[in-house]
Amino acid sequence: MPNDTMTQEKTLAAGKVWLIGAGPGDPELLTVKAARLIAGADALVYDHLVGKGITDLARPDARLIYAGKEASRHTLPQESINNLLVDLAREGLSVVRLKGGDPFIFGRGGEELETLVDFGIPFEVVPGVTAASGCAAYSGFPLTHRDHAQAVTFVTGHLKDGTVNLDWPALARPCHTVVFYMGIGAAGEICRQMIAHGLPAQTPAAVVRNGTLPDQQTLLATLGTLPDRIAESGIKPPALIVVGSVVDLHARLSWFER
Ligand code: SAH
Repeated sequence: MPNDTMTQEKTLAAGKVWLIGAGPGDPELLTVKAARLIAGADALVYDHLVGKGITDLARPDARLIYAGKEASRHTLPQESINNLLVDLAREGLSVVRLKGGDPFIFGRGGEELETLVDFGIPFEVVPGVTAASGCAAYSGFPLTHRDHAQAVTFVTGHLKDGTVNLDWPALARPCHTVVFYMGIGAAGEICRQMIAHGLPAQTPAAVVRNGTLPDQQTLLATLGTLPDRIAESGIKPPALIVVGSVVDLHARLSWFER
């Protein structure tokens, strides 16, 4: 890591917000740019999935604000977070808004930026390694592979009114990897629909929990067996469900959990 670049810019522009992806967990997956900005910011507003190893990079005198958000235990409502960013910037602070993974992938980063635009607050966006990339890399299944999948889809499995409304025919295509974020609570429905829309029950499926962190867990199953495996193991969020034959490559390519 280029230390010179990191220490050069101690003072960031006042009254500005950087929306930054903190990556999936392993602090070393942070971008060099993210690390530099975190180390320079006056205030850091961070989410549940941002690890301590990352917030520790903040200046000792920086204001650290936890904005929360665990499934169904929202700490600050989205609107309060949007307003908080505006208030901090208007105080003249350099503000880093840190989100797990990539801020533009199921991160509601867009909504926060729209509020900043409404109030005329300048901002920049720094992408991060999204959970699907992190989990795939550390679990040893490439998301695409010439022999297995020519396409990959990231989709939310978050339940709305107890159901998952997704374009099942489009998801249940062959030669395709589908990664469900926030899908653990809906795993039964997800597997049932994927089978009902044409995928064989033997299609490989996996859950990766706490991907890229020392306690990463990978659960291997098929569409037919995954819901029971999840129930037996008691595996909890944060976890991804990955569906597709690339999951089989775990047997040969897994390196991190060994
Ligand atoms: N913006 C984030 C996603 C936020 S939604 C990103 O790009 O990764 C939160 C969901 O992401 C979790 O419910 C879980 O499905 C997934 N997730 C985030 N970090 C994860 C991790 N380390 N391991 C497994 N899943 C993770």
